Amino acid sequence: MDRYRIPPDTPVSLSRFDPSDTGGVDEDKAEDRLKDLNGRLESLQELLYAEGKHKVLVVLQAMDTGGKDGVIRHVFEGVNPVGVKVASFGRPTEEALAHDYLWRIHAHTPGTGQITIFNRSHYEDVLVVRVHGLMPEGVWSRRYRHINEWERLLAEEGTTIRKFYLHISPEEQAKRLQERLEDPTKRWKFKVGDLNERARWGDYMAAYEAVLSQTSTPWGPWYVVPANRKWYRNLVVATVLVETLEGLGMGYPPSGDDLSGVVIPPAG
Ligand code: AMP
Ligand code: MG
Repeated sequence: MDRYRIPPDTPVSLSRFDPSDTGGVDEDKAEDRLKDLNGRLESLQELLYAEGKHKVLVVLQAMDTGGKDGVIRHVFEGVNPVGVKVASFGRPTEEALAHDYLWRIHAHTPGTGQITIFNRSHYEDVLVVRVHGLMPEGVWSRRYRHINEWERLLAEEGTTIRKFYLHISPEEQAKRLQERLEDPTKRWKFKVGDLNERARWGDYMAAYEAVLSQTSTPWGPWYVVPANRKWYRNLVVATVLVETLEGLGMGYPPSGDDLSGVVIPPAG
């Protein structure tokens, strides 16, 4: 999966990443592989919780229909919901806008033993904000530096961060939007406003390239996930997360009590 990981301080051109890439993996085998990864993730999450040492933050960013919800559903299938939180970030409230842009985000970072998934994130403050000029350039251009330093703070305080940009093509988005339009069970997701974002596709790609070029750090790496094929997208994210958690070298802690000679007595 290293080929999808962006090295620090590397200029990124998204045209060099094929959204339809399937890494030579056979689709017939994808389901079994994902099931295996789901099972491993389930055990690793339990271990993370039991050990109580690490915090894990997963950041998901994508254009509309890119598959953020699908990743949450399929990658975390079977994982105990007690240990996983999802924080979704929409338009900031007036109260949030009265604070610095990281204020509302920081409140949702994971605690010890927890995995938190950000469905959109602080990166919107250099994506939608930049594309639509919601703040002057002088304001958003400083944010890459803030974000790197803020994520470094989280990492130094025990948070493992993995960030995923789900990369779809505009043609694939057109297909998915059309499906949403036609399927009564998906129509609720369709917002006419999303078409304004689609109209700015090129600007968004430039904004994503700036994010990937400037904020992939040793403590908060970005992955560009080929996301035209949902099954491959899920495999990539699941594999990175399983490898990351396995890399933490976790172990079950002993009981805090001396258990030698403990016998379960009859109930009173
Ligand atoms: P959805 O993910 O479909 O619920 O849409 C959330 C919307 O909130 C998207 O259009 C985002 O661009 C927007 N949004 C998220 N964060 C911000 C932000 N910091 N400033 C402005 N809009 C935002
Ligand atoms: Mg939406």
